[in-house]
Amino acid sequence: MLDSSNARRRKTILVAGGAGFVGSHLCDELLAAGNRVICVDSYLTSSPANVAPLQNHPHFTMIKHDICNPLKLNDHLDQIYNLACPASPPLYQADPIHTMMTSVSGTGNLLKLAARNNASFLQASTSEVYGDPEEHPQNEDYWGHVNCTGPRACYDEGKRAAEALCFDSLRAGDVDARVVRIFNTYGPRMQPNDGRIVSNLIVQALRDEPLTIYGDGAQTRSFCYVSDLVDGLVRLMNVQPNPAVPVNIGNPGEFTIAELADMVRSMLPTRSKVVNKPLPADDPQRRRPDIARARELLGWEPKVSLDEGLSRTIAWFQNTLLEQASPRSSKTVPKVAGATGVPQGI
Ligand code: NAD
Ligand code: UDP
Repeated sequence: MLDSSNARRRKTILVAGGAGFVGSHLCDELLAAGNRVICVDSYLTSSPANVAPLQNHPHFTMIKHDICNPLKLNDHLDQIYNLACPASPPLYQADPIHTMMTSVSGTGNLLKLAARNNASFLQASTSEVYGDPEEHPQNEDYWGHVNCTGPRACYDEGKRAAEALCFDSLRAGDVDARVVRIFNTYGPRMQPNDGRIVSNLIVQALRDEPLTIYGDGAQTRSFCYVSDLVDGLVRLMNVQPNPAVPVNIGNPGEFTIAELADMVRSMLPTRSKVVNKPLPADDPQRRRPDIARARELLGWEPKVSLDEGLSRTIAWFQNTLLEQASPRSSKTVPKVAGATGVPQGI
């Protein structure tokens, strides 16, 4: 039971996209800190299972809603985290206009809600605002190299527009808006079929299916474990004064996709072999965050190594797939999404 001092400190926090992979971990963290959480999600790319354990929590409310439509609430909000947006390339490209509108209209709607409540606002932006970067590693002053007409533009340009909305709202004095640029993050509760590299490799290895590598696997990414990201999000939302600049959050360890596939294979008893598939258009060649700003402004740095994070994630997928395959479960094991399409059931 919370004592009266905890009750006084308790904030009411809206998490848009709170049923998603990152959002559900953020909801857990905010509730554990004694806050009241209102989760707003359309379940477009997530499963209600992510927040099912929270449904009976006395301070948790779930609202099924698409943020492209304005949201009216009677509750007073102290903070809004906007994580609502598909994050996996095959999924955000499945309905690109809706993806763009989610970042533009959706973020606009939530900023208006924040202004009405005088609530602080954190926008989940992305390393994709740097596009296929010509500077390496990427720091926040780099303006990026984005193809505004290609298949990734719905996501990259949508997120860039959302950043502009946030900084305009801040400059106008309407909203205490903050922007985090998230680099590739992984962990438990990624959808097994959502098509991102970590979930694809683990699910394929667990099923003894070929490990799909797009291109020659020499492209690099930097992988951040989800608990480290959530720590960074909470710090950026609460740091005073508002830094008024975007902040990279990611793990600076840089790995080729081929190295990642080898790591996954070495951590599992699998017969899977690598197959190479065509590299999707505009796939960034190199990516690594410069996290000097996060270190300086937030005192943040990642704590979980890729080895440790992968083994936790593999254990979670093992349990989840076993549960889905159990004869008592009505669920079927979903197909993995590929570069060319979206899995059934999404
Ligand atoms: P996710 O797909 O698991 O979660 C996104 C959530 O938003 C889902 O629950 C989905 O149903 C919901 N959603 C999508 N469109 C919506 C809409 N119009 N209205 C309401 N809900 C909607 O992805 P994630 O990995 O948890 O990513 C969370 C956020 O972080 C996203 O905004 C993503 O762009 C950003 N991000 C994530 C990563 C990463 O590596 N995980 C990297 C960069 C940025
Ligand atoms: N990728 C791959 N095989 C897969 C899925 C992805 O080789 O089954 C590659 C993809 O082309 C990209 C990298 O892995 O170069 C990371 O892909 P992801 O979709 O996870 O994230 P993003 O491209 O958005 O960084």
